Amino acid sequence: MPDTRDVKSYIRTIPDFPHAGIRFRDVTTLFSDPRGFRVAVDQLLHPYAGIRIDKVAGLEARGFILGGAVAHQLSVGFIPVRKQGKLPGRTIAQDYTLEYGTATIEIHDDAVQPGERVLIVDDLLATGGTAEAGVRLIEKLGGVVVSLAFIIDLPELGGRARLEKLGLDVHALCA
Ligand code: 5GP
Repeated sequence: MPDTRDVKSYIRTIPDFPHAGIRFRDVTTLFSDPRGFRVAVDQLLHPYAGIRIDKVAGLEARGFILGGAVAHQLSVGFIPVRKQGKLPGRTIAQDYTLEYGTATIEIHDDAVQPGERVLIVDDLLATGGTAEAGVRLIEKLGGVVVSLAFIIDLPELGGRARLEKLGLDVHALCA
């Protein structure tokens, strides 16, 4: 029987996490449901039929779960984009701004070859700061960001507009 349930219906919202006033979109309930996870990964792939993708880059941490599944489906390699200090080999780093302060993400300096076409995957797009930092890392290595794929877009936080202004292609399954 076809699954007619909306991806969004598998995601729960946790009030006041990690801080008072934040409504955290919890995708663990989507990941733990066999249909939900399958439908989400299948839908993430839809826009890329017939498009050349050489690698999938996942943003720590939920982007690893989704990006690994997407890379497997595409039969391409997977690259982890990690928080500072986690990758064992030689890395390049990119700082980005958070609501309070800054953060840094890293990628292995040999993870992407010049000209490779990379799809970036994460669970949620908010301000777009994390995703833009990921784009910058891939571009520093000479890679081409084909598109960015998310389960959830929170458009009121401006991430999509920010990425599209950079000329990037953005897809999300729900808002
Ligand atoms: P941004 O950099 O776009 O402001 O924030 C997006 C990053 O923060 C993503 O890596 C995402 O996993 C995480 N994030 C921020 N808010 C939420 C949320 O409500 N739910 C989940 N699952 N992730 C969030």
